[in-house]
Amino acid sequence: MEIVILVVVIALVVVLGAGGLVVGSRRRKKQLPSPPPSTPEITKPPAEPHIGDEAATQTEESRRTIEEVELPGATAAPEAPAPETVPEVVIERPEPSAGRLVRLRSRLSRSQNSLGKGLLTLLSRERLDEDTWEEVEDTLITADVGVAPTQELVERLRTRVRVLGTRTPEELRALLREELVALVDPTLDRTLHTDSHEESPGVVLVVGVNGTGKTTTTGKLARVLVADGHSVVLGAADTFRAAAADQLQTWGERVGARTVRGPEGGDPASIAFDAVKEGIAQGADTVLIDTAGRLHTKTGLMDELGKVKRVVEKHGPVDEVLLVLDATTGQNGLVQARVFAEVVDITGIVLTKLDGTAKGGIVVAVQRELGVPVKLIGLGEGADDLAPFEPGAFVDALIGD
Ligand code: GDP
Repeated sequence: MEIVILVVVIALVVVLGAGGLVVGSRRRKKQLPSPPPSTPEITKPPAEPHIGDEAATQTEESRRTIEEVELPGATAAPEAPAPETVPEVVIERPEPSAGRLVRLRSRLSRSQNSLGKGLLTLLSRERLDEDTWEEVEDTLITADVGVAPTQELVERLRTRVRVLGTRTPEELRALLREELVALVDPTLDRTLHTDSHEESPGVVLVVGVNGTGKTTTTGKLARVLVADGHSVVLGAADTFRAAAADQLQTWGERVGARTVRGPEGGDPASIAFDAVKEGIAQGADTVLIDTAGRLHTKTGLMDELGKVKRVVEKHGPVDEVLLVLDATTGQNGLVQARVFAEVVDITGIVLTKLDGTAKGGIVVAVQRELGVPVKLIGLGEGADDLAPFEPGAFVDALIGD
């Protein structure tokens, strides 16, 4: 009997012990410190794609990373701030665009020193011999004016200086101004066609290779238009570059312009279409569409821009196609200009970064190349550093007072 009791007791002890172990191990499992919440990997935006890069996979990956860390249950998500703490969006009133080039003239100081002042110094020499004229030519070519326009200008200057006989500094300055203005061509129509039609807003497509300042220019242009009394809707159809839509939206928010955007890597044409639709719904004056500037193949570019244009035209006409070119890229910029001009009808050129180059002569070269006027120039990274191009004010800035 005692033996039986002993066996039962031992059995109980064994069973309870085992149970305790299981419970204990369960408890331990429960008490295991939960793995540290995977720290949101704030991935740097993908590196700026170079011409010809296919970064679609990379951008797709970074999108997934962001989505993964935002899964429901990520209790660390900050609570929505109480309504009264939401910072008020301050809508800026940018300065009007008229006369901006005059105000920003000092930004052209690098071009000024090498082109305008350089030419004036050469022409003021006591003797204007062959060597001096060659130096005049070199100065113009170094400033990217282009060979043919340079030769024309030198020819005209030689003749006029000969006729002039004695040359006072004032006479020389006036002569050079006149000839440079003629070279930049004041007869070209530089009007920006942004006004609305009866049924639809004015539509501007902004095209160009990534990195030229396309998105920045679209944002700055929105400010120019708002400053000049237009209502604007933005279309973020550059779905190729990861940060482009955010960047554009920020520009828009600052001046109270809505940005229509889609998923990264989405179809640019459908975003462009929706942007114009939104513009119509809002009764906006102008819709500005930032496009992707992949220059991987000419056919690819042609397909993409062609599609964007065709789709937008279902709503109404496209009024402007602005090609953004980086003035610091010289000949490379001209090659890009040629390719874009072959795939889409460019109606105006925006030359950016003229503040960072001595090569102001590119204005002349690119107009000659495309037969299309420079309508706007970028003179800095500031929000209002985009100026309507005016030949007289530009040349005055180059040669100084
Ligand atoms: P995107 O890839 O063509 O859309 O290029 P972004 O608009 O992102 O511009 C590329 C860089 O060029 C940015 O750092 C801009 O601030 C800069 N940028 C654009 N326009 C100008 C300009 O007129 N002058 C200067 N100095 N920088 C500019």
